Amino acid sequence: MRTFGFFAAFLSLLPSAFGWNATGHRLIAAIAYDRLTSKTRARVDELLKHHPDYATILTRSAPADERGRAREAFLAAAVWPDTIKGDARFWDDTRKDAHATDLIPGFPDMKRHTNWHYYDTPYAPDGAEPGHQDPPHALSELPRLIREIGKAPQASAAYDLPWIEHVEGDLHQPLHCVSRFLKSQPNGDAGGNGVILGERRNLHSLWDGAAGNDTSDAYITKYAADAIAAHPAPKHIEKNPKKWIQEGFELSKSQVYTFGNETGSREHPLNLPESYSENAKRVAQAQIALAGYRLAAVLNDKLK
Ligand SMILES: [Zn+2]
Repeated sequence: MRTFGFFAAFLSLLPSAFGWNATGHRLIAAIAYDRLTSKTRARVDELLKHHPDYATILTRSAPADERGRAREAFLAAAVWPDTIKGDARFWDDTRKDAHATDLIPGFPDMKRHTNWHYYDTPYAPDGAEPGHQDPPHALSELPRLIREIGKAPQASAAYDLPWIEHVEGDLHQPLHCVSRFLKSQPNGDAGGNGVILGERRNLHSLWDGAAGNDTSDAYITKYAADAIAAHPAPKHIEKNPKKWIQEGFELSKSQVYTFGNETGSREHPLNLPESYSENAKRVAQAQIALAGYRLAAVLNDKLK
């Protein structure tokens, strides 16, 4: 969930917006895991065993065999930063009224870091005054995590890895790279959370779920194979998070905010045609394949 100025109260009425849902994050991790070199794969498998939640969360639904267990830990790790949003051991450092929870050994801190999941490039199509997001945010934290993971002590690297997997994935959901400011919505739309669609949905949640909601291994394996076949890996794999954000911002303009300067409201939700959702699914498939290739490239580069 993104809390953003006056949207905080209003967002609590809406379904949670988590970035790609668990399906999207698992897909990206599955595509990446198959592309890790054997050396890098051995390192991520080992690192995750040192994560404080390895036994309780990361391998909760893992198969018994060692290979399957290691792969499942990597997939679950990609969802972990969302999992802790509902975990009472952690606290939301972006809320003014929040109380810090006790530090548990193995974690550097107990913050939920909900603002690490996105970077709001301002988009002001009708000339409204654009807002500005202060760090920490995805643009400040993801490059730092990527820089650090190769040389960090094991405990820090174990903590950083799920975050890298997750935020890298989030930035391939275009609405994690933008906030739209309109004269009618001067505080911004918090990455589409403020664009209200019918049936308790909003623009952000439509895109979060554009790769489906099924987390079964059968679905993940088939979707990943289809996505790879439709969008083979490019020769040059971009590894710079800043470029990923710029691309996401461009996609937001060309593929997401294509319905004009409307925001919808609870009384009059915006009605997007079926063709809009179909296009979102196509864009999501391409972005998920790309995110998988890029995650593998970054880890192969940093964890040799
Ligand atoms: Zn996220």
